[in-house]
Amino acid sequence: MRKNSIYIHFPYCLKKCNYCDFVSFPCGQNVPNLLQYYLKEIELYQQKFGRKKISSIYFGGGTPSLLPPEIVMRIVEKIFNLYDVDDDAEITLEVNPKTVDDKKLLGFYEAGVNRLSIGVQSFDDAELRFLGRVHNSVDAVECIESAKKYFENISCDFIYALPNQSLEKWQKNLEKITKLDVKHLSLYELIIEPKTPIFNLVKSGKINPISESFAKKMYEYTNHFLRDKFPQYEISNYAKKGFESRHNLNYWNGGDYIGIGVSASGRIFDGARHFISENPRNIDEWKKNIDDGILPLKPLSKKKRAEEMLIMGLRKNNGIKFNEFKQNSGVDFFDIVDMQRFQNMVEKKFLILCESSIRTSVKGRTLLDAIIREIIK
Ligand code: SF4
Repeated sequence: MRKNSIYIHFPYCLKKCNYCDFVSFPCGQNVPNLLQYYLKEIELYQQKFGRKKISSIYFGGGTPSLLPPEIVMRIVEKIFNLYDVDDDAEITLEVNPKTVDDKKLLGFYEAGVNRLSIGVQSFDDAELRFLGRVHNSVDAVECIESAKKYFENISCDFIYALPNQSLEKWQKNLEKITKLDVKHLSLYELIIEPKTPIFNLVKSGKINPISESFAKKMYEYTNHFLRDKFPQYEISNYAKKGFESRHNLNYWNGGDYIGIGVSASGRIFDGARHFISENPRNIDEWKKNIDDGILPLKPLSKKKRAEEMLIMGLRKNNGIKFNEFKQNSGVDFFDIVDMQRFQNMVEKKFLILCESSIRTSVKGRTLLDAIIREIIK
């Protein structure tokens, strides 16, 4: 059965980080109230697509932990009122360590949140300053320890492959991470995005990014180091057994998701057709759409949706099951790949083909984007 998720984008942060190109705006302590727009948008989707069954809700950003818990509670209540939310639905909120204390964490728990994704990024204060984070390593550890009082399911985000970062420094981060008794890790290589302060430092020659081959070495070391402690289940994600992110797995499995909030996107199947939604990146335009009752929906061809599912599915360590792929997309997996190039990737052992599934090999995982470009017809 198709799974459905709801993503809510909260676009404000205390300040902008030096590497960030997400749709996020610095607001300091003056957190704007978007509640009425969120509630109305949730309602508009329910009117259009009916009372869908929801298995996960995710508050992302930006910094949704800037929201008062009462606002989170109002949004969660609205979703429960209008949709058939699973009793054990996963409800995640992204947290910046500088924005919460014990009382606020308890408030999020009481609002229905049952999973936290904490943006730690590093335990090295010099690295945190370089990244432009508003917290230091002590704030991060205190946040994790407080969160553990109310939440069992805690994920932490880290960034590695920073300019000048040695393997030893990253090893120290990894050692500390694994001692913290959290259940899930998302580990991302630093991508130097155009127009960010870090990009400008690279462009002016003040810093040098690390080489591709060194970044690959760090990635391989990470997978090796975490192998027994946090098995990898997706290209950048690691979890203790049973704590894999259900929300993200729904994206990677080609499930449906409703995107609420400025810049949020969605994929929705109405029983006959696939739709894509892409909200404006400008807050006033998004608000105007909501005021006018407009949902930015466009039809998405079966083939395009199937291609997206191939791209997402190969990110997972256990890859794509052919029968599920056909069931969710309506398209046969082998109808969208170039058979000769696909076979070539299998022969080179970048892809592992089994009777009922396809997945990337360990060496294929480091070349995933190129493999996907190669095999799609
Ligand atoms: S906290 Fe996250 S969303 Fe906000 S500026 Fe930093 S990286 Fe971007």
